[in-house]
Amino acid sequence: MNRIEFERLLLTRMKRRNLLVGAGSLLGTTVISQFPNQRLLANPRFSNNPFTLGVASGDPLPDSVVLWTRLAPSPLNGGGMPPENYSVRWQIALDEKMQRVVQKGSVIATPEFGHSVHVDVKALQPGRTYWYQFKVGNEISPIGRTRTAPAIASQPKELNFAFASCSDWQNGYFTAYANMAKENLDLVAFLGDYIYEYGPLPGGPRQHNTPEITSLNDYRNRYALYKGDPNLQAAHAAFPWIVTWDDHEVENNYANDISELDTEPDQARKIFLLRRAAAYQAYYEHMPLRPPYIPRGSNMLLYRRLSFGNLAQFHVLDTRQYRTDQPCEDGIKQRCPEALAESATLMGGKQERWLFEGLDRSKATWNVIAQQTMMGQYNFDPRSTPTSNVFNLDQWDGYVAARRRLLSHIAQFKPNNPVVITGDIHSSWVHDLKVDFNQPNSPTVATEFVGTSISSDFPPSSIPSVQAALPGNPHTKYFDGAKRGYVRCKLTPDRWQTDFRVVDSVSMPMSAIRTAASFVVENGRPGAKPM
Ligand code: FE
Ligand code: CA
Repeated sequence: MNRIEFERLLLTRMKRRNLLVGAGSLLGTTVISQFPNQRLLANPRFSNNPFTLGVASGDPLPDSVVLWTRLAPSPLNGGGMPPENYSVRWQIALDEKMQRVVQKGSVIATPEFGHSVHVDVKALQPGRTYWYQFKVGNEISPIGRTRTAPAIASQPKELNFAFASCSDWQNGYFTAYANMAKENLDLVAFLGDYIYEYGPLPGGPRQHNTPEITSLNDYRNRYALYKGDPNLQAAHAAFPWIVTWDDHEVENNYANDISELDTEPDQARKIFLLRRAAAYQAYYEHMPLRPPYIPRGSNMLLYRRLSFGNLAQFHVLDTRQYRTDQPCEDGIKQRCPEALAESATLMGGKQERWLFEGLDRSKATWNVIAQQTMMGQYNFDPRSTPTSNVFNLDQWDGYVAARRRLLSHIAQFKPNNPVVITGDIHSSWVHDLKVDFNQPNSPTVATEFVGTSISSDFPPSSIPSVQAALPGNPHTKYFDGAKRGYVRCKLTPDRWQTDFRVVDSVSMPMSAIRTAASFVVENGRPGAKPM
């Protein structure tokens, strides 16, 4: 959410009707086989270095990591590559000077995928740091650092990671990423809103350079704008990332095939799916994901599991692609009966069963549920008046039965230490997760840490009312809406420590960082305690 959205939600939500804005440009989104006969250029010459978007790595396994880059000598204009195939060389080494190379190879960067490169390097050693680099023609990329996961049955003494979300270019500089890059981490988990789709918004420290994005070319150029940021590049080059998306990688508060615009269903859904296909393809092109995650039309499988020995298992969710529409016309308001419907789902049936089975089978000490919107209930107006009892219906609070299914499953089958990590709301929170939030004596079955945004706005004018509601939400242990940053987590077999890392400012290119608050969860005791 950004400032404008939040204020709009706090008022009564108006449904926009200019549905066909941008629809014409959506028709150019089918890309496969668009360039059937291109040559392979093995020794091309470039007038500009094509590695303007940096390098990245992701989804670490014990023996494998995926390496990413994209050739874009003119990044804000479709990349600037001729419609030809290019041979890109890669190598991975044991040292930061790339002298002890352990593997190398080459891959083809094609115009169909925006000359992006995804290399699934295999046969690596577990729990080890590597450095990597790309080369095309005579041009070389920056050097990235990455790290494989520990061996499958190993018992790591600790795992250090950061999680982050919501990096709105227009609301500020990525000073949090500059500081994150200096941390000592095994990985970064990104929980959605990597880009925002809006057109230029005056008044912030920097602005989007194009109108609201709808076509594949638009989305590519928007990723290129964001990925040109040196602080974001530094955070990618420092650690492997595990990424998932939320809404703004496509459109604010979309639900499955239903646009935020949400007017005449049949035609609107078809048009929206073209936009979603373009957005998903650009997402794949710009993220360190393995090739099996290539989208098929407007569908892209993104939920997955990653293990770190017996210490932690990450269950990475997608709560946008398969959800039912927001109930009660969306917004922050009183619940209508639709918000309590048994048919409501955020994950869809298949993903929900996958999560339950994965939790049941997991032998990890910590089960990290990495997902998008706040799971803990929060009543924004807990007074006893006719207009009180107000909930954010885009969050799990709008999908009450779906949340009860998950938390009841956890209460019944007792997987080890479920900890939910969350983005979306541009503010920091800690919740005890309960099967029945309305009964303070209901047992706590899991813990939730909600991280603030990298840069996106939480309106200062909303902070006092959220704070005033805290006593009426006794399962909520912490709230801070004033700061931007990320969350650092240190996991050991005995306990989980969370540090809310916050920057002084996002209105200047650089800023100091500090820890605003720390919480711990003891193994076997759900619920966080302040340190
Ligand atoms: Fe956001
Ligand atoms: Ca969001």
